[in-house]
Amino acid sequence: MILRIDSSARVTLVVGHLYPEYLNIYADRGNIAVLERRAAWRGVEVEVRPIGLGDQIEAGGCGLYYIGGGQDREQALVAADLEQKGEALAAEVERGAALLAVCGGYQLLGRGYRDARGEWLPGAGLFPLETVAGGRRMIGDVLLECELEPGVPRTVAGFENHAGRTLLDPGAVPLGRVLAGFGNDGESGYEGCRRGRALGTYLHGPLLPRNPWLADWLLGEALGGVALEPLEDELEAEAQAVSAARARARGGRPQGHA
Ligand code: GLN
Repeated sequence: MILRIDSSARVTLVVGHLYPEYLNIYADRGNIAVLERRAAWRGVEVEVRPIGLGDQIEAGGCGLYYIGGGQDREQALVAADLEQKGEALAAEVERGAALLAVCGGYQLLGRGYRDARGEWLPGAGLFPLETVAGGRRMIGDVLLECELEPGVPRTVAGFENHAGRTLLDPGAVPLGRVLAGFGNDGESGYEGCRRGRALGTYLHGPLLPRNPWLADWLLGEALGGVALEPLEDELEAEAQAVSAARARARGGRPQGHA
């Protein structure tokens, strides 16, 4: 079903932004701006609701949840709180909410993260994975191939900078295959994780300005599984092409991957 909204109808999508004051490295907040704008162009109003330490995740409160990246220090400040929110967040995704988690937020939506000092930071347990900090940071441009809809491969371009190596449980579904860059651990050839409408990834940049199809996928899922009317996206396509070429030229190469 394609979403068509006439000018008299008012559709509002509530986006729950987890810990905006702590997790916003590399301007990850820019992803929210893209969601707002692309929704507005389709006649959908976005209301962004910050969700901070101690706040409850209300059942049915948001159509989409977002959590950005941060350094180990900021992650340590929110980890215990996020662990408490884990069950409610997972219930929201099961109910139909979409979710995007980036880098530090992605790590903490798994079972936990052993940080560079050896401290165990508990996570929300929403994604079937664990992360352990390694000695060498994985930094550079990344290009992925994703197939969120079977038979429809799309590319995602972005930038990664993480010490954490993320290990998916057997049977867990990655977000995509690494064409250039390191991805989850620099070895598996995979990046990110997907649990239904919930996506986790290491890609900053921010992610959505240069991958508008992904923003539309998230919005469509958040609005109940609709396809949005396409936009022109000429500049966005150019930005994606530049980024993809940069990743091909100088992204980190996972071992065992051509
Ligand atoms: N602190 C985490 C790491 O280095 C996440 C960093 C980030 O969000 N860029 O692995």
